[in-house]
Amino acid sequence: MASVDEAPAVATNGSNGVAAGIPVENPATGAVIATVPNLSAAEVAELAAKARAAQAGWEALGFEGRGAILNRAQRWVMDHADRIIETIVSETGKTYEDAQLAEIAYAGSAFGFWAKHAPEFLADERVRTESVFVKGKKLVVRYAPVGLVGVIGPWNFPLTNSFGDCIPALAAGNTVILKPSEVTPLTSLLMAEGMRECGIPEGVFQVATGDGETGGALVDEADLIMFTGSTKTGRKVLARAAETITPVQLELGGKDPMIVLRDADLERAANAAAYYSMNNGGQVCISTERVYVEAPVYDEFVDKVTEKVRGLRQGEPTGFGTVEVGAVIFPPQLDIVERHVADARAKGATVLTGGRAREGAGRFYEPTVLVGVDHTMACMTEETFGPTLPIMKVADAEEALRLANDSPYGLQASLWTKDTARGEQLARRVEAGAVTVNDAQVNYAALEVPMGGWKTSGLGTRHGAGGIRKYTKQQAILVTKLAPKKDPHMFPYSARKSRLLGRALKFLYGRGKRA
Ligand code: NDP
Repeated sequence: MASVDEAPAVATNGSNGVAAGIPVENPATGAVIATVPNLSAAEVAELAAKARAAQAGWEALGFEGRGAILNRAQRWVMDHADRIIETIVSETGKTYEDAQLAEIAYAGSAFGFWAKHAPEFLADERVRTESVFVKGKKLVVRYAPVGLVGVIGPWNFPLTNSFGDCIPALAAGNTVILKPSEVTPLTSLLMAEGMRECGIPEGVFQVATGDGETGGALVDEADLIMFTGSTKTGRKVLARAAETITPVQLELGGKDPMIVLRDADLERAANAAAYYSMNNGGQVCISTERVYVEAPVYDEFVDKVTEKVRGLRQGEPTGFGTVEVGAVIFPPQLDIVERHVADARAKGATVLTGGRAREGAGRFYEPTVLVGVDHTMACMTEETFGPTLPIMKVADAEEALRLANDSPYGLQASLWTKDTARGEQLARRVEAGAVTVNDAQVNYAALEVPMGGWKTSGLGTRHGAGGIRKYTKQQAILVTKLAPKKDPHMFPYSARKSRLLGRALKFLYGRGKRA
């Protein structure tokens, strides 16, 4: 297990001073397992200076040189998978399976993907223009690294959603400072150790442990911020970045709806509802957070889901196969889950299973199914981010779509029907950055397609060509090889030349008007 005792965080961060320590807790046991430094703004500035000094050398390595280190890191993750999983489980209390599937698998695939595709996504583009004024000139668009990227991450996926966004930023030739959540900093520190072992030059990748103020200081220092976290904090980051006109990418909260139509494969839909609402303890930005089921199949679906959720084992994960649902990672999150269930109950909802925090050591909330819910209840309109699943009966697909879109969020959604052509058509009417038909969440593994929220769920996307181009500045280059001593539009102006130009413009652009 990575701990600051084993790998001193001061050395790991490259910082000289420790303002104050932040204790790291294992949420499944309540034990404090490490303490990490809470970096001050001055210390973040020190890291930024180191990063800036290292950037040109890193960029000069080219795609091949950087790709070699990223490929080595891919092997390092696989060779050290057990240790990384233990570290993730120790600071999150999630199951070993959640750490393996959603974190190790992601990091393994992302290192290889960006090492392989960065050269293609960021290659110079030769452009042909329609403008007669620049015909014959060479036009190139190139993608230059922004310089220093600040990545600020949440606590629910310390590897995937904190470190994961550093990989394309590095592949593009940037240096990176990662500010992990103060709740789960150990995985990031372990990855810093791994990157050093893989030969990343000093200062290219650094971890700034600390709280929200450390994150704010990073916003002041970086050339671009990649933020993943709550919509509330995302707004603060955007406002702070406005001071320095620093570009910001935001991956924020969600309230993903699941729409179950009457012709759905109910067994698969019920298995998926149980899994995609409860995996990672429901602490997934693209968790299934609310379900709308067409009336004719509502009772059968609810019975199936309730039976499956009731059978889930919960507790301290002690190895693979020991429990299905782990701990509530962040203490205040338990209050949110309890508030949503209490509010639903007070307004007439019924709890079919679960519905309370577990007694004893660690922080757990029982896997919970709610029915008799509607949009007056917080559990249907606000992000819960816990192991709860509210299910609502609807008359038809139209009502389901209306309710699915009745949300400030637009991260993901899923539709369940055997008529996949209709499913695909309905998917286009859902206001979300990704919609799956007869599936959920797995689109995240397809690094070729964009992943990002609409509405208040985000700004920008990760994955795909856009997922690395966002870490660059576009530069247009125009080169004139053969040219007269003077172009016709140059001084001096003359009435005759201007009349000729006017006629030429009418000839070129006037046809559309006549048509
Ligand atoms: P928060 O918004 O609370 O925190 C995210 C990060 O921002 C943390 O590192 C936090 O530090 C830091 N931070 C806090 N205040 C500031 C500030 N003023 N300036 C800069 N940084 C700051 O999110 P959570 O950690 O609670 O994560 C859960 C949220 O993340 C959920 O809403 C979830 O939906 C979302 N999420 C979205 C994903 C997506 O891809 N769209 C993926 C995963 C999660 P500290 O922890 O030290 O306070």
